[in-house]
Amino acid sequence: MTDSNLPPLQPMPADWQRALAVVAHPDDLEYGCSAAVASWIQDGREIAYVLATRGEAGIDTLAPAESGPLREKEQRASAAVVGVRVVEFLDHRDGTIEYGISLRRDIAAAIRRHRPELVITLNHHATWGSGTWNTPDHVAVGRAVLDAAADAGNRWIFPELAEQELAPWNGVRWVAVANSPNPTHAVPADRGLEQAVLSLLEHRAYIETLTDEDPETYVRRFLTDSTSAHSARFGGKPAVVFELFSR
Ligand SMILES: [Zn+2]
Repeated sequence: MTDSNLPPLQPMPADWQRALAVVAHPDDLEYGCSAAVASWIQDGREIAYVLATRGEAGIDTLAPAESGPLREKEQRASAAVVGVRVVEFLDHRDGTIEYGISLRRDIAAAIRRHRPELVITLNHHATWGSGTWNTPDHVAVGRAVLDAAADAGNRWIFPELAEQELAPWNGVRWVAVANSPNPTHAVPADRGLEQAVLSLLEHRAYIETLTDEDPETYVRRFLTDSTSAHSARFGGKPAVVFELFSR
């Protein structure tokens, strides 16, 4: 089935004020959905970022002790470009994040701290579609985010969080999975695209290890291609796509 045979992508819900994005690595949100984040913040919404790692295993030529602080700095700068001021790190280990109780607890704690109505994460499926294998970190974090959205609201699952004065938060109404191979919803990418380009460009040290191409040319082409991939299902318009799970 080609993309145009699939049903149209629905607009994302608009009746929310606070979102929390939880992903595995620096750059996941910039490759994944920052054009949507930029337009939401332009509309006055509040969004915070939580990263499971500092991406310290992401640059082959740089040891983790040097790479982690560099990538954290690039992540904070790229968040600032789209207007996100709160960026937190859970300090799981890049490349070997384990799906399990400790990850669910850390994400549930973040959800209780920020009390979002919308939680955003990156594709947790085994592939990106089209035969491209996903990484274990994305799978572990995405699944744990979907689970922690419920854990955060149950006072009996992680009672130790209440002792840290993190009261249950059962207000997550949706979890939106960016770049899922099974998208159901979309946000127009036009208004946030320029900020998204500048935001991804802040990961310059990382990008320079990926390609010999001029970083801006590479970033602009990547985001133009990725936001047009599903436009046949969204009135021909560039879009950031999500698989939306309601709660
Ligand atoms: Zn990643």
